[in-house]
Amino acid sequence: MIDFEKFVKYSRPGPRYTSYPTAVEFSEDFTYDRYLEKLHAQKSSTPLSLYFHLPFCRSACYFCGCNVVFTSKEDKKVRYIDYLKKELSILQKHIDTKREVIQLHFGGGTPTFFDANQLQEIIAAIKEVFPNWSDEAEVSCEIDPRFLSEEHMKVLSEGGFNRVSFGVQDFDPRVQQAVHRIQTFEETKRAVELARKYGMQSVNIDLIYGLPFQTLESFQKTLELTLQLDPDRLAVFNYAHVPWLKKTMRKIDETTLPSPDVKLAILKYTIDFFTSNGYKMIGMDHFAKPEDELFKAIEKGELHRNFQGYTTKGGADLIGIGLTSIGEGEDYYAQNFKEMSAYEEAIDNGKLPYHRGVELGQDDKIRKAVIMELMANFKLDIPRIEKQFGIDFKEYFADALKALKEFEEQELVKVSDKAIEVNETGTLLIRNIVMPFDAYMKKHGEGKKVFSKTV
Ligand code: SF4
Repeated sequence: MIDFEKFVKYSRPGPRYTSYPTAVEFSEDFTYDRYLEKLHAQKSSTPLSLYFHLPFCRSACYFCGCNVVFTSKEDKKVRYIDYLKKELSILQKHIDTKREVIQLHFGGGTPTFFDANQLQEIIAAIKEVFPNWSDEAEVSCEIDPRFLSEEHMKVLSEGGFNRVSFGVQDFDPRVQQAVHRIQTFEETKRAVELARKYGMQSVNIDLIYGLPFQTLESFQKTLELTLQLDPDRLAVFNYAHVPWLKKTMRKIDETTLPSPDVKLAILKYTIDFFTSNGYKMIGMDHFAKPEDELFKAIEKGELHRNFQGYTTKGGADLIGIGLTSIGEGEDYYAQNFKEMSAYEEAIDNGKLPYHRGVELGQDDKIRKAVIMELMANFKLDIPRIEKQFGIDFKEYFADALKALKEFEEQELVKVSDKAIEVNETGTLLIRNIVMPFDAYMKKHGEGKKVFSKTV
């Protein structure tokens, strides 16, 4: 049972830990040449995970925190495909692209803002460079139901895509108007039906709570409608209002945002609603049907976390392709340029559009293993970490374990010689629970406006 009083009491601002160190630590100190060394050192036996950023959107949804290029110009999209192809051919010089691909993700932006033929062209270009695909590859695309034709879904299905994620956020017209994203229930329903028709194994729906004008009653209706769509997975994110970081968020009238009490009531209701309708809660903000592989993976302690969120596929080198994409190797993170002109200029000069990143030292690697394991599976096998890194866990993390005492006393976590285990209420506070293991936390200061609030 979740103790919401404790949750509110112990919730503090913190990173979402889709990486460790977090993106705040990325810099140009990790140079282009060093990045190339890392790519050249990758083992042919390590599988590949590919992320493509397709950054275009027609218009801004005011809550959006993604790196997006707003346009209605066709030539920009054509030009971008051209640069993606050039980037792929430069990449071929630096990694063995015959390695097995176990994961591909199209993110954005709105990938389906490209028309079906353009998507087909991108997929064909990828397959030409990466010919070796695992039969069990997880191939997924983020989809905006407002920009989806049957041809899109056909192309994705024929291209081997087997998972789709639909952005919905809220079905209430007043909320939709306030966030500048009008999307009818019928549009979303049709999109889900197309996904089923074309055999997508897993359909995810994203919702957001904490948006303008939301009330418990209005969100209840959104949940009812969402349930009618019968998704396999759901992500229900807490809206992170960070207008000092994201310009479009400044268009949201802060006085219309729901109070923390209302947000908490919505969260409580949402958890109760989905769990009583056959879904299981996975971590901070995800729900899945028990037969979904995400749920099975958490049962086996095999869930992983990366920039796309939770995944069942670990142990691959992640290559980020396209504007602003982030890649991840065993001991580095690497991000492409965010500005289109810099991205294109690098490629024109025959270079990968790498901008900045971070190289992980041994301490970073140990902390990353601990943080990611806890974030994904909510328990940590201490002897395994000790064996993997040759450390005495209690000695190495004496400070962190001391800081965890507060959570231990509140029975949010259990720490023994063998394991750290997080209880149900603790899973909602997982960011806070892993923060003591983050060596960079002190540098930024807890509670500063660097991170959004956890509730
Ligand atoms: S939420 Fe999706 S469609 Fe809206 S601006 Fe962001 S990326 Fe584009």
